Amino acid sequence: MSMPDLSSELLDWYDVHARAMPWRVGPEARRRGVRPDPYRVWLSEVMLQQTTVAAVKAYFERFTMLWPTVADLAAAPDAAVMGEWAGLGYYARARNLLKCAREVVEVHGGSFPGTRAELMTLPGIGPYTASAIAAIAFDQPETVVDGNVERVMSRLHAVHTPLPAAKPELSAHAAGLTPQERPGDYAQAVMDLGATICTPRSPACGICPWRTPCAARDEGTQAELPKKTPKAAKPVRHGIAYLGRRTDGAWLLETRPDRGLLGGMLGWPGSAWGNAPQDAPPVSAAWRDPGIEVRHTFTHFHLKLALRVADLPADAEPERGGFVAPHAFRPSDLPTVMRKAFDAVAASFGPIDRTG
Ligand code: SF4
Repeated sequence: MSMPDLSSELLDWYDVHARAMPWRVGPEARRRGVRPDPYRVWLSEVMLQQTTVAAVKAYFERFTMLWPTVADLAAAPDAAVMGEWAGLGYYARARNLLKCAREVVEVHGGSFPGTRAELMTLPGIGPYTASAIAAIAFDQPETVVDGNVERVMSRLHAVHTPLPAAKPELSAHAAGLTPQERPGDYAQAVMDLGATICTPRSPACGICPWRTPCAARDEGTQAELPKKTPKAAKPVRHGIAYLGRRTDGAWLLETRPDRGLLGGMLGWPGSAWGNAPQDAPPVSAAWRDPGIEVRHTFTHFHLKLALRVADLPADAEPERGGFVAPHAFRPSDLPTVMRKAFDAVAASFGPIDRTG
C-alpha cells in the first residue's frame, strides 16, 4: 500500500471510530465547517502532557467553565489557576500556562498564532505541543509524535531498534505518512489508533485498518514492539513535613518558592529533600512523630516524607509560613504529596477550641 493510501485508510477508519473528547471537533463536525478552538486545543495538549485522557477530562471541563477564553485565563489570579491545577502535578507547566495565556493576549491580541514556528515562541510550548496545535487547531501538515504514535510506527514498520535510540527513525516514518489533506484529523487518528487498537499489551490487529500493510503483524512481533532500553532505577529522597494546627483550627502552611519542584504551590513547611533530612520545624512546639511515612513518586525520584504533627498554641509565632483559617483551607488545593500527608494524619489532632 502506498503512503497516501495508508493515510486515507486511517482517515476512513477515523471517520467512523474517532473518540469523542471535550476539546475535539470530530470528523463530522469538521466536514460541516466547524473549526477547533486553538485555546481549547492548547489547554488540552498542555494537560495531556501530564496524564491520561480520562484524568484530564474533568480538569479540562473545570478550566474551560471557569475561564472559557484565553483572555479569561490570562486575567485569572495566579493562585486560582495553581489551585485548580493541583493534582495534575508538575507545576512549572501551570506557571507556563499562565505566562503563555498572558503573552497570547498581550503580544498576539488574544489569538494563538497559527504556525508551528510562531507557536514555539510562546512559554511552555515545545516542539511536540507546537506541532500538535498547528496540526489539530490550524490544519497545518505537521507531524505529531507521541508515545502512541511511536508504538504504532514501530509496529507498522517493524522497527526493532530500542527506544529512545529509535526516536528519529520513528519520527521519520511518521512524517512520511502525514498527508497534506486533513492533517489535523490524521494526527488525531494515529493517536486514537494507538490508544484504542494498537495498544501496548494486546493490539487488536484483527480490526486494525493497517492490518494488511503492518510489518510487525506479518512477522508476529507486534507484542514485542517498541523495544525499550531498560531505565535506570529512580533515586529515593527523604524529607520531613510539619503539619501544625492552631487551637482555633487554623493550619500552618507555606507557599513554596516559585522556582523548583511544586514551585508556587501551597504546602506544609518542611526540610529540604535529600539523603539525610535535617529537622526544620517552622515553629517551636511539641512536635510528635506519628510514625507515618508518605511516599510519592515524582518524574525523577521517589520521595519518602516523614511527618511531624503538633497542636499549636493560640499565640504561636511561626518562623516560616502563615496560618490559614479553617474555612479557607481546602485540602484539594494542595499538591498531591501534600494532600497525602494531610490525609495520613488529619485524624490525629486534638479538638478545636471554638470558645476564642
Ligand atoms: S496491525 Fe496490529 S500491530 Fe499493526 S498497527 Fe494494527 S494494531 Fe498495531
